[in-house]
Amino acid sequence: MAIIRIYHLYPAHLNLYGDRGNMLALCRRAEWHGIDIEVVPVEPGGRINFSCCDLLFMGGGQDSDQKLVAKDLKNHRTEMRQAVEEGMAVFAVCGSYQLLGYYYTTGRGEKIGGLEIAEFYTEAGPKRLIGNAVINCSLWNPPKTLVGFENHAGKTYLGPNLQPLGEVLVGYGNNGADKKEGAVYKNVIGTYLHGSLLPKNPWLTDNLLEKALSYRNQVFQPAQLDDSIEQQAHSSVIRLASSKRHKRRSSRV
Ligand code: GLN
Repeated sequence: MAIIRIYHLYPAHLNLYGDRGNMLALCRRAEWHGIDIEVVPVEPGGRINFSCCDLLFMGGGQDSDQKLVAKDLKNHRTEMRQAVEEGMAVFAVCGSYQLLGYYYTTGRGEKIGGLEIAEFYTEAGPKRLIGNAVINCSLWNPPKTLVGFENHAGKTYLGPNLQPLGEVLVGYGNNGADKKEGAVYKNVIGTYLHGSLLPKNPWLTDNLLEKALSYRNQVFQPAQLDDSIEQQAHSSVIRLASSKRHKRRSSRV
């Protein structure tokens, strides 16, 4: 039986807007596909054995929590970067996405150093970027939509060689200006989308499971699942995000 070991980093500190639901979606979907899952929660000060980690998940966090976990993550920087280069799958949301880049400067002007895993930086802007978002995600050909909820002060700017996760159809994405959302580097996905994200975008959940398996030379053999409820949730966010009222409210933020 295929097996995936997921390291859940700092669950007590990084869990905004239902991010923990991503773990539930990964575990439940893996079970439906006949994949064994082992979850290893790690809090600051804990040991992270990257050689055993197939998929690393980190949720979003407020500036204060980001600062706290960034300090701990620094102790793991070399090992984490090496595992990423070898193909470890990483899924990082909002505050932890920001920590994968060069730095995040908070609204108070504090500079939190990042892991420098991918070429980007983040600086807080004067207003928060809040609302439901829809992106066209090019992990698939043809692209599929991803829907989620964003709430961030940070504006992220990608280096010229870094691929975004998708193109913004509704919402703000990385910085509210260049229509890019998230970033993809090797098997790493960073995104501003909370929600939680994975239950409403089951194709992304499967993509992460597939990445984690292929990293260990295991083949993803998806079961035929009935995704009608997930699809309904997905479609209802698209309807909500696309409604004129929602767009008006978001643009007032
Ligand atoms: N503190 C960060 C910001 O405001 C991240 C917030 C979050 O994870 N939602 O940009």
